[in-house]
Amino acid sequence: MSRIIILDQNMVNMIAAGEVIERPASVVKELMENSIDAGATKIIISIEDGGRKLISVADNGCGMDGEDLALTFDSHTTSKIKTSKDLQGISTLGFRGEALASIASVAQIRAVSRTKNSPGANCIEIDCGNKGSVSPCSGDYGTTIQVRDLFYKLPARRKFLKTANTEMGHITEHFTRIALANGNLDMVLHHNGRELYRLSGKQDIRRRIAELFSSEFGENLIETESSEKELRLSALLGKPGISRTNNKFQYVFLNGRFIRDKFISHAIKEAYRGCIEPNRFPVVFLFIQMPYENYDVNVHPTKIEVRFYNANLIHSQVLGALREKLLGTNLQTQAKLPVTTAPAKAREENSSATHHRSREIADAMAEFFKKHRPVQTQQQLGPALKKRFVPLHPNAGQITKSQTVPSQHGGTKEFLQIHDSFIVAEADDGFIIIDQHALHERIIYEDLCRRIQESRLESQKLLIPESFQLTDTQADALKANAELLEKLGIELAPFGPKTYAIQAFPSLLAKVAPLDFVQDLIDLLTDKGLGLDAEELLDEVLNMAACKAAIKAGQKLTDNEIEQLLADRERTERASRCPHGRPTTIKFSITELEKQFKRT
Ligand code: ADP
Ligand code: MG
Repeated sequence: MSRIIILDQNMVNMIAAGEVIERPASVVKELMENSIDAGATKIIISIEDGGRKLISVADNGCGMDGEDLALTFDSHTTSKIKTSKDLQGISTLGFRGEALASIASVAQIRAVSRTKNSPGANCIEIDCGNKGSVSPCSGDYGTTIQVRDLFYKLPARRKFLKTANTEMGHITEHFTRIALANGNLDMVLHHNGRELYRLSGKQDIRRRIAELFSSEFGENLIETESSEKELRLSALLGKPGISRTNNKFQYVFLNGRFIRDKFISHAIKEAYRGCIEPNRFPVVFLFIQMPYENYDVNVHPTKIEVRFYNANLIHSQVLGALREKLLGTNLQTQAKLPVTTAPAKAREENSSATHHRSREIADAMAEFFKKHRPVQTQQQLGPALKKRFVPLHPNAGQITKSQTVPSQHGGTKEFLQIHDSFIVAEADDGFIIIDQHALHERIIYEDLCRRIQESRLESQKLLIPESFQLTDTQADALKANAELLEKLGIELAPFGPKTYAIQAFPSLLAKVAPLDFVQDLIDLLTDKGLGLDAEELLDEVLNMAACKAAIKAGQKLTDNEIEQLLADRERTERASRCPHGRPTTIKFSITELEKQFKRT
């Protein structure tokens, strides 16, 4: 007896639903995508009980006539493709003809639709695959689809759903993606009768981002565009100050479709290298446009992944465009002082400890300015500190008494060292707080990079060579990296069995103990450095050198030393971040201070 049967159509649809319809948010996504494919300019979404009770999506798109309405909930029915040739350049969000059939197999549906030239609307009801007939009804142009009691005949799937809040979080995420990709669409989202979002298609993208996330996002984005061959990119790049602990806030769109792609994620990560702490993720909105024929969307049921025919090209263009912009931009963090009312739609909790701390700093600063600027009023707050320093100093990075820049006027000091670790200085429209170690580290690192690119580092003979012992592995590692040592200006010579002596050491690292440095260098070469290519290894070594040579937290600095540091800051690239990506400088604006002291 044959064991194989052909599954009935409803079973087929339910199985397809298992792939496409994971939770209420998947329904919302599919319905919104259909509305966009139908040319809608306005979409209104109403949800009840996290989508368990009701999902309603109403649009003003092209609508369907009675005949299409009768067909559209059957499986494999679509108006978007006809032949296999059409699969090679899909320009619509949908094309599989499965979504409505899948949804209708696992819920109660009522759909009302009306085309532009039809005198009235038609409606149809389907209950878990049992289709009623099409009948006339009243309704505007466009389509409204209501989905009730999702999975009600599938208790196992229904039990799997999370709380209304969690499900609503997923729905909001899909709403957000579509809102970002379709900036000129009017969109409304309600939950249990409460309006969560009302977005106007006329607002610009920054404003949309501010409404969807927070005003902090909107204010800390750098815009860039690039166009090469057939690929057009436009991006809004979050400054490092608004970075996050995961990559959830990296939104990548390909021809209006939200996608996740590991090549692109990698390119973004690389672009931010050195601008952001290694364990943080930047906020990025990236919009890619390219011919539909250059990739395949038919690789994933929800189409969140695509297959690029030339992934390397995309990687290099994204990396190049983003990196160029980031390196050419001041990424200094704009510090926000605490506000009395928290933004209504803030997605992440604000840390009250940070707020408390910034209030303390603000109070201390106001006190400082009062003491040190007795004759000036707020309106007279002086020119930027940078303007009164001589700009370039050839030996910057080495702070010694003889090399410091003389103070140009003997008047009121415009900076202050606090806790022997931070420098507070006046800036154009506020004040900055500098982490002295982090900034000095960056200055030395850039100096080292520049010099090593030009030639090898200048070195100085040690009066008394310093000797040390080595294992065979360590000696091998040193031999294998002879070129690197040469570039660094470190000269080592054999000095007996398993013993070497340091003969010369880079002058730029005059403040670093040679033996200590060489020993750490050997550790790096034999341990952490394994698996790095030559360039990455050199970068690690320069990082280590900069860290060791930089002034430390807790080190008291003279006025001249501080002036030198501030002057070096002005001429150093990427001075806003230390080489590990941590901020060197935090800025507080006078506007924020005035707000805080209730002056405005
Ligand atoms: P697909 O989007 O892959 O074609 P669906 O099952 O989502 O498959 O939709 C089937 C068809 O129903 C679509 O191709 C389209 O012609 C029609 N349709 C669905 N939703 C709408 C809508 N909101 N407005 C107009 N037509 C729609
Ligand atoms: Mg569809």
